[in-house]
Amino acid sequence: MSESLFADASRRLERALKYVSLSEDTTERLKYPKSSLIVSIPVRMDNGSLRIFQGYRVRYDDTRGPTKGGIRFHPHVTLDEVQSLAFWMTFKCAVLSLPFGGAKGGITLNPKELSKMELERLSRGYIDAIADFIGPDVDIPAPDVYTNPMIMGWMMDQYNIITRKLNPGVITGKPVNIGGSLGRDTATATGAFFVIEQLLPKFNQKPQDTTVAIQGFGNAGAELAELLWKRGYKVVAISDSQGGIYAKTGLDIPSIRQFKETNKNIKALYCQGSVCHIVEHEVITNEELLTLDVDVLIPAALENQITEKNAQDIKAKFIFEVANGPTTSAADRVLEEKGIYVIPDILVNAGGVTVSYFEWVQNRSGFYWSLEEVNQRLKDKMFAETEELWRISQELSVPMRTAAYIHGLNRLGEAINAKGTRDYYLNH
Ligand code: NAD
Repeated sequence: MSESLFADASRRLERALKYVSLSEDTTERLKYPKSSLIVSIPVRMDNGSLRIFQGYRVRYDDTRGPTKGGIRFHPHVTLDEVQSLAFWMTFKCAVLSLPFGGAKGGITLNPKELSKMELERLSRGYIDAIADFIGPDVDIPAPDVYTNPMIMGWMMDQYNIITRKLNPGVITGKPVNIGGSLGRDTATATGAFFVIEQLLPKFNQKPQDTTVAIQGFGNAGAELAELLWKRGYKVVAISDSQGGIYAKTGLDIPSIRQFKETNKNIKALYCQGSVCHIVEHEVITNEELLTLDVDVLIPAALENQITEKNAQDIKAKFIFEVANGPTTSAADRVLEEKGIYVIPDILVNAGGVTVSYFEWVQNRSGFYWSLEEVNQRLKDKMFAETEELWRISQELSVPMRTAAYIHGLNRLGEAINAKGTRDYYLNH
């Protein structure tokens, strides 16, 4: 059997541990999730039958604050995956210095097979099942793969019905008119854009000379593609779960986005329709996209896409990880040997949780910010932490991923130590 995702995720720590002096308590605490909940969710389907779905909610560590993490609807969701995602969230919140621990949730299903009303019943059923484990001061979910603001709205509503009061801060990523934050829908892409714009100039890489391939054309990938396109980067390839397209001279991202909104997948572009004339392209597979000869590769779909098997064939100079866990630890070693510069998920995609934090702050204060304020605060945070990781990576000659874990571990270690350690109890 191949190694579990969680075992692979934990391996990232080993390298960073050499550079930080942590109490035994910290390393011991961070080995295990605080709680892992498995639930069965009964849903009445439109045809009258009853279907039971399996759901999860894992709270990894709450030393730095209430736990925070998205909810994923996907056929491959397992406890192992949810634990790994909760572990990454713990580090991401520490790297960005947000007052949160890490969590994650998910339901194993193909959401495309459910009607909208079935999805609503499932979303409400999930909250019925986990209501005792979440709350604005305990654990705060958010959207992830195949969940969206409307689903977050249903979930908040269900939590309010159960608790018989309004709790806007129980979940983030809500629609703006029921307590969501301006800029939350685009935050992951905007944050990733800030990181790219801050790091590429350090390598004298200019937008107009930079070709980009993006795997995943959803919430994060499509928005980032458009931001890069607007700034003058040449986005030459994109893909979704059905396959991808490539154009050497660059794709016209806004028209593809518009096309995907009406036709649901990029595959519909393999056609003779009007957009095909605007966007001339070749059809490629997801595997081909990953190994294109481009300057920047952006995995923005799912985990485990760059593995030991294809890492040797990757030709990009830079990989900015928008997806969570797209690169395995074995692939990391190969990429490092090849001199490919990998900027890790726990920094690149942290814009989402950062604006989720802003949403939670706004919900608690009842005072809402303008889009400019949200984006300026996001920029300041992303800038400060990117610069800090860059400094650590230069000073210690370590990859940015290791720098990120060192930075996160230091903050987690300080918080765990603040509650007392073995050394404190025995020697003071
Ligand atoms: P989404 O559901 O909006 O989009 C996912 C995209 O990936 C879709 O275009 C889908 O077709 C595509 N996809 C699925 N399987 C694929 C495959 N095998 N090959 C190529 N493409 C495939 O999800 P999202 O919110 O954009 O999230 C994408 C990634 O970013 C996930 O790893 C998620 O955890 C991470 N992320 C998202 C956020 C956020 O706020 N949305 C925040 C942090 C991290």
